[in-house]
Amino acid sequence: MTEDTPTPPKKPSRWRSKRVAEYTCTICERHPPFCWLCPCGFQICEECFAENAWGMTCNNVTWECPDCGAIRSF
Ligand SMILES: [Zn+2]
Ligand SMILES: [Zn+2]
Repeated sequence: MTEDTPTPPKKPSRWRSKRVAEYTCTICERHPPFCWLCPCGFQICEECFAENAWGMTCNNVTWECPDCGAIRSF
């Protein structure tokens, strides 16, 4: 008895094994090309930074991490 078991056609798996994004914005959780970083792990993209700049920087030379309060320079 021969059972004809149809083999499903192989779909080309398009797994993105390589994660190109090195940054993950803590605020919007997107993967922008650039983020401001804090050693505590906080990351913020330029877009979010622009929205929150009023609360994070007062002199445009340094910014304060909202997570740990570290003063970071640009
Ligand atoms: Zn963001
Ligand atoms: Zn921090």
